[in-house]
Amino acid sequence: MVAIVGRPNVGKSTLVNRLVGRREAIVEERPGITRDRTVHDVEWIGRNLVVVDTGGWVPPHRLGDTSVSPDPLAGSVTEQAELAAETADVVLLVVDAATGATEEDEEVARWLRRGAAPVLLVANKADAVASGAPGGPRHSLPVALAELYSLGIGDPWPVSALHGTGSGDLLDAVVDLLDEAGAFDRPQPLAEGVPGITLIGRPNVGKSSLFNRLVGEERALVDERPGTTRDAVDTLVEVTPGRQYRFVDTAGLRRRSRVRQSTETYSRSRTLRALHASAVALFVLDASEPVGEQDQKLAREILDAGRAMVLVLNKWDQVDAERREMLERERDRLLHFLPDPPVVRTSATTGRAVQRLPDHIDGAIAEWTRRVPTARLNEWLGEAVAATPPPRHDGRAIKVRYATQVATAPPTVRVFASGKVDDTYHRYLERSLRDAFGFAGSPVDLAVRVRP
Ligand code: GDP
Ligand code: GDP
Repeated sequence: MVAIVGRPNVGKSTLVNRLVGRREAIVEERPGITRDRTVHDVEWIGRNLVVVDTGGWVPPHRLGDTSVSPDPLAGSVTEQAELAAETADVVLLVVDAATGATEEDEEVARWLRRGAAPVLLVANKADAVASGAPGGPRHSLPVALAELYSLGIGDPWPVSALHGTGSGDLLDAVVDLLDEAGAFDRPQPLAEGVPGITLIGRPNVGKSSLFNRLVGEERALVDERPGTTRDAVDTLVEVTPGRQYRFVDTAGLRRRSRVRQSTETYSRSRTLRALHASAVALFVLDASEPVGEQDQKLAREILDAGRAMVLVLNKWDQVDAERREMLERERDRLLHFLPDPPVVRTSATTGRAVQRLPDHIDGAIAEWTRRVPTARLNEWLGEAVAATPPPRHDGRAIKVRYATQVATAPPTVRVFASGKVDDTYHRYLERSLRDAFGFAGSPVDLAVRVRP
């Protein structure tokens, strides 16, 4: 996990696009989810990196100062930068080389130096220093770089996110650092055929109780090994002979069962990290309580991370007919964007339906990893386009040529067309694809590529 940190306007988004762009040429044609998406998969020399763009960092004493950032969420963005940097394997501190180090840069550098994760200093906009563009150059690039040593982060990496120079060397350096730290030895979502599972849900919905019920009931705790860095611990569970799951980042769950913690901080980066080591998220709701905004946020994290989902309605022992009806309405209203996940109504207290979870987990994985043959996909596409042809673009008819599934986990489909299709049509294709093939519980990544 690579966290990108820096004050607003230094070029973080541009850098992320540049890093992602090495693999994914077109990213804009995914309406809805992607707009505020800040997590990206990047592949570099055969290594898979998760790049988290943390948004702008605003020093605490300037929070709420609208001249710094008009974003009312600045506080939580700062928090996220801190959290991401706390749990990331490597942090890229991005500064504007043309401007030089500002007080804010110094503050964030000071703070990052105290953290555990290694930090690389990215001297972005190197082109602006060298070329004399506006905002540049008070001096030459070597001088500008030399000045950045004052941040105490070590060698600056000159990069132009805008033009792409230096980004390859930077990625090499990131991979070297991660190799050294053994970060790539971490469990993968489906490593050794043992799927990673993570329990996601608000505090107090019953995650620990469910986990202990599942593990305790089966009495099949095989192994507990330090999975990721710091205090993240995975638990291998054999639910039936030969059927294993790796529950990701369970230290908290197990600890909480013994010593109750009075407060639980919701760490977004920790959630993201767990999701990325998992195939399936058990999305746990307290069925006896109203569905809230935090539930929605967590559901979106799961889908944005591209993970399969099983919806667990826990505390079912507390649900009466009236509440049941209300819950249905809340689901329709607040969780309509869920990808039709399998639903399990559990009670960790009585044990109700807990033993049914493994079947649903397996079902969700099957959908998540399902590959649709190209011929069937194109049969579907032909029918979908015949039923509703794409609207004309700039007065010209658009030909939708063919579709292919380029990846599984999650299902990733590329449709090739002679011109750009609008968001409405894109959504139509997504819906139609789901109607045809299901992919229950799994996000589907469908993009339309233009091939004139
Ligand atoms: P963020 O707020 O840190 O995410 O910054 P952005 O990525 O939005 O970039 C802020 C501005 O700097 C934009 O106008 C970019 O086009 C510009 N910018 C980003 N990277 C570079 C670069 O390498 N060179 C130059 N000259 N401009 C850049
Ligand atoms: P976590 O914060 O999500 O890990 O939630 P816990 O597992 O710590 O559970 C929070 C509280 O809810 C505890 O007091 C549990 O005993 C209780 N609880 C958990 N599951 C159930 C359930 O299915 N039914 C009822 N009635 N209470 C439950």
